[in-house]
Amino acid sequence: MNFLEERIRKDGIVKEGNVLKVDSFLNHQMDIALFNEMGKEFQRRFEGKPINKILTIEASGIGIACIVAQYFHVPVVFAKKSKSINIEGEMYVAEVESFTHRCKNQVIVSKKFLDEDSHVLIIDDFLANGCALQGLIQIVQSAGGTVEGIGIAVEKGFQSGGRIIRNLGYQLESLAIVESMDAATGEICFREQ
Ligand code: 5GP
Repeated sequence: MNFLEERIRKDGIVKEGNVLKVDSFLNHQMDIALFNEMGKEFQRRFEGKPINKILTIEASGIGIACIVAQYFHVPVVFAKKSKSINIEGEMYVAEVESFTHRCKNQVIVSKKFLDEDSHVLIIDDFLANGCALQGLIQIVQSAGGTVEGIGIAVEKGFQSGGRIIRNLGYQLESLAIVESMDAATGEICFREQ
């Protein structure tokens, strides 16, 4: 088991409806020492890639992306989830269906911050059905940029997102892949990596 799998076993809580709660260390209260370990691991897995920008989505991707960015020495851009936010100029827009909130959001990134010279590492906390990632990929493509890789903290391997994104040919690196989890017993099984 790696450091993140151990932490999920210790502090993750399995909820009904295929939801894993990790809010004591990942996406509400945040363990920055753990995020630093994640940053080092992503740096190792994406070594040699010409990454010059990190892209994530608000809100829970932002904390992880900022710490990871310290290992790549690049700026972080986060996609915003509402059209009404006051952001200057034209925007790239994608539609994203939220797994946890079961609603559709438009996500936007200003055209000022992504272009054809952008070599992007996409970072997010969770991968479930892959809607969030597909929206972010679409935004990079609209900008004419390149997705150099995708780094995820927790992938739920029993949902379809990982397979879809890997089939598209992207280097998708998930630090922990949950193969199965049981809300009744709290048991969590990880995929061997
Ligand atoms: P997807 O778009 O891949 O279906 O879902 C990804 C997004 O949904 C993530 O950005 C994350 O915020 C949220 N999410 C999906 N599954 C879970 C889960 O089991 N637990 C938590 N805490 N968030 C999740």
